[in-house]
Amino acid sequence: APMLQLHQVRKSYGANEALKGVSFDVAPGEFLALLGPNGAGKSTLFQLLTGLFNADGGEVRVDGHNMQHTPVQALGRIGVVFQQMTLDLDLSVEANLRFHARLHGIADRESTSRIEDVLQRIGLIAQQHAKVRTLSGGNRRKVELARALLHRPAVLLMDEATVGLDPASRRQLLDEVLALRDQGVAILWASHLVDEAEAADRVVVLHRGKVLTSGSPAEVVAHT
Ligand code: ADP
Ligand code: ADP
Repeated sequence: APMLQLHQVRKSYGANEALKGVSFDVAPGEFLALLGPNGAGKSTLFQLLTGLFNADGGEVRVDGHNMQHTPVQALGRIGVVFQQMTLDLDLSVEANLRFHARLHGIADRESTSRIEDVLQRIGLIAQQHAKVRTLSGGNRRKVELARALLHRPAVLLMDEATVGLDPASRRQLLDEVLALRDQGVAILWASHLVDEAEAADRVVVLHRGKVLTSGSPAEVVAHT
């Protein structure tokens, strides 16, 4: 079964229809790139997927849980890296992760080992006790990724995750995401940069609230 299912999702702001019946799925272990210019509806879609508001119509399911009816279960299966940095700069890497773990109801004893595991994995264990403020932009993004993974989500949402990063940091972040994909996590990677879709298994192009085309990166590039 798909990890993420969007079926005829609609959302308007007054008379402005931001999403006009958007449907697509993301399978376990699939990396889907969501491409679209500004105004396409990507942020609106992310806001629906992170429970900030409900769709006006259609259905969103995460690991089978309906976002409208069982949002706590649905949101528990999602990890998010937001476009804006949402770490506390004056707290340590560990403290930022601990806060998130507590929000997800993970006991401190359990989160201590999870925090170490995830920092080891992304190569940030040496920075565990450093204040986030002292880290480079690339490492801050990695901390955000670590945080998004702490509660072991089935679906990872990345919203313009590489904005402001140098090419080497972008590559490292992308490699981390590809490794997660290979472990079975469903990835939804939203970007306005066409070249970021090259590594994806499938690309969905959103335009003015509708799916314009979808297919392999090669197919989509041929159509645009
Ligand atoms: P993207 O993230 O792809 O740039 P958005 O989801 O931000 O697209 O925007 C989709 C459409 O919805 C645009 O026409 C935008 O102006 C409109 N929109 C987005 N957020 C709001 C809002 N809070 N109020 C009114 N209109 C909005
Ligand atoms: P989930 O799949 O995450 O459990 P659902 O909202 O699909 O979320 O289902 C939650 C429970 O509510 C299920 O037992 C389902 O059968 C029931 N349910 C879902 N939609 C309705 C509905 N419109 N009226 C009554 N019960 C519903």
